[in-house]
Amino acid sequence: MELRKSFQIESAHHLPNVPAGHKCGRLHGHSWVIEIVVEGPVGEGTGWVMDFADLKAAFRPLYDQLDHCYLNEIEGLENPTSERLALWIWARLKPLLPLLVEVVIAETCTSRCIYRGPDI
Ligand SMILES: [Zn+2]
Repeated sequence: MELRKSFQIESAHHLPNVPAGHKCGRLHGHSWVIEIVVEGPVGEGTGWVMDFADLKAAFRPLYDQLDHCYLNEIEGLENPTSERLALWIWARLKPLLPLLVEVVIAETCTSRCIYRGPDI
């Protein structure tokens, strides 16, 4: 069984490694939608895979680091593409959330990145 929980953050960034004149090289912001996906068996007694509140609590410190921030200034996010953001979140969340199987980063309504990383 799979659970998905979405979080929205508002953050600014620019991509330092794009060719000169590329629009992503300019400072701009996104209303990022981050989806955290866990997978596991349904507990016999609980009737759930895990408490959504525990999932929210595990993500909270990352949310606080990312929301209303300039992503380029965060250690490890000097080139904050959606892909790098997914990896950054995975590396910090997986140790706390063993059931994590997927991180989805949507930087716009039509553009998203899905990471199903290694078990670290
Ligand atoms: Zn952007």
